[in-house]
Amino acid sequence: MGRFSGFRVTLAQVFKAKVTGDYPKHKRPKPERFHGRHVLNRYEDGMEKCIGCELCAGVCPARCIYVRGADNPPEAPVSPGERYGFVYEINYLRCIHCDLCVEACPTEAITETKLFEFSFTNRQDAIYTKRELLVGDDGRARRQPWELWLGGEDDDTSAWMRATSPSGVAAYEGRVAWSGELGFGVREPEHGQHAPLALEPGESDANTKSAAASGPGDAHS
Ligand code: SF4
Ligand code: SF4
Repeated sequence: MGRFSGFRVTLAQVFKAKVTGDYPKHKRPKPERFHGRHVLNRYEDGMEKCIGCELCAGVCPARCIYVRGADNPPEAPVSPGERYGFVYEINYLRCIHCDLCVEACPTEAITETKLFEFSFTNRQDAIYTKRELLVGDDGRARRQPWELWLGGEDDDTSAWMRATSPSGVAAYEGRVAWSGELGFGVREPEHGQHAPLALEPGESDANTKSAAASGPGDAHS
């Protein structure tokens, strides 16, 4: 009798709703503040935002960022100002995605995407170089062969990055994205960002503009 009771328990499970999904074909939406792999951002004129100050490396509790700054060559500067990030590496065998590097950065050069599905078969792939971290000309993260990007994943990355990168989407200007969620507030548009805001269906123009006008230091949720 005990044996049949066991089968009854098993059979009962067959007709219950599944709690698992068809991963990775279907993924659950990630939280807005999800911390994934990093990107190094650029200004809309193509210049790099990183100034090689090493604050991100200094604050990193896992000691997984390696930065070396160098003086900008006067004839072909890489970033505005005196210095730029000559070498930039993040070791993802160590990173705990705490986001302290993002908070420490004075120029919003480093932000995080929502991508966490990347696996390595060798140590070299796990250490992302500046070339791999720097956003492409379309303002999106450069996809590496070992990363599993699915549709729409990069749409949820930093709007600030998307607004200010070369060939990025200026309509993201002033919209609350990673910076607002982290408590920095919405920032004033950077130089060259003057396109009208693109509103989502059902979103009022007044709401968007009042958020954009609240200025640095205001927390948004
Ligand atoms: S997210 Fe945290 S652990 Fe990872 S690189 Fe940044 S500071 Fe270091
Ligand atoms: S990413 Fe930001 S904090 Fe790190 S070296 Fe570059 S400018 Fe400095």
